[in-house]
Amino acid sequence: MSLNFLLYKKLVHHFGQVDVKCEGEEAKGYITVDPFNGRKSMNYISWGERYVMDCPFCGDTRGRMAVSHMYGTKEIDSNYNNYSLWKCLNEECQSVPSYRDRLQDILSTNISTVGRKYNVGAYSPKVKIVRSIDLPTAEFPGVLKPLAELPSDHRAIQYLESRSYDIKELNDIYKISYIDHIPTRCREVMAKDRIFIPVYHREVMVGWQARFIGDNVNFKKSGIQKYLTFFPKSQILYNIDRVDTTDAPLVVVEGATDTWRYGDNAVAMFGKAASTRQIQLLIESSSKGEKPIYFLVDGDDAEAINEAYKNVSKLITFGFSYDIQILPISKGKDPANFSRLTLHSLVQKIKSDVEDKYAESSKEKSPDANTTVLS
Ligand SMILES: [Zn+2]
Repeated sequence: MSLNFLLYKKLVHHFGQVDVKCEGEEAKGYITVDPFNGRKSMNYISWGERYVMDCPFCGDTRGRMAVSHMYGTKEIDSNYNNYSLWKCLNEECQSVPSYRDRLQDILSTNISTVGRKYNVGAYSPKVKIVRSIDLPTAEFPGVLKPLAELPSDHRAIQYLESRSYDIKELNDIYKISYIDHIPTRCREVMAKDRIFIPVYHREVMVGWQARFIGDNVNFKKSGIQKYLTFFPKSQILYNIDRVDTTDAPLVVVEGATDTWRYGDNAVAMFGKAASTRQIQLLIESSSKGEKPIYFLVDGDDAEAINEAYKNVSKLITFGFSYDIQILPISKGKDPANFSRLTLHSLVQKIKSDVEDKYAESSKEKSPDANTTVLS
């Protein structure tokens, strides 16, 4: 018996063949509060039971559309109506507003053949809500093999070595593994045979990513996703537990692999733009504003630079007034193509330049300095 039988029946009525995936599994999520306007919003970590069918909008015949059992239900605390809990894997499809409206129309209409009035919104299954910004512990549904247990000719090892990562460090510090097996029951099955990247926050694993092994594919054209992500990316900074309390700059990078390159004091946003929550985390991790924050970006990626400027202005909006720098790494090279040593000396050089400038300008302005010179 499915969790939202009425919704399931409606889907069958309108679309024919509908498969139930993750039957009986409840949706999981938590509520966050926007610090600017106090608006609550619901963040789903997993949709739980969902109904899978051919998408009626894009002519798909491969069962690429999924509707969560929570679709159309009202979440009481956030007032969230859950009408966005459907997904067509052909992404353009989902972004068409008229499709969204049509699906909503279809599913909020009565099923005439059954001769009764059904109201999807009236049925509200229980949602597990974590009532704080603290993220719940993530679980991994399959079998992992730590890098240290893999033979040296294993493709995961060969790939990581080809990119000059330190296998021992990835194993010991970042707890990187190889995803050996995942049961076919759930959506995570796509992560099989990838590199497992656990994401920790205050020493608890709150999520994980699965990185495709290799770079010799055109990720955009082939539709292969470089990373599969199983947590709300905007709520976390990767490697945040390894930011120290010295005055060494906090270095902000895009992805987990950039962090491996730089090491301690580098955190990744899982993208180019920092969310409000990530801005708060950056300020907290900067020893409450006493540690410089440097954005390390690919100098040839205009969008990344643009977003870095926006991140800086967000930091300032939140009251961060210490040294902030954008470091564009030039000429077709992203930070991952540099060695750790090069990156560290670059960051150190910028930091001392800033300090020199600051010292000079305060010498000029400070009457005490003048007095010392005169006496
Ligand atoms: Zn579609």
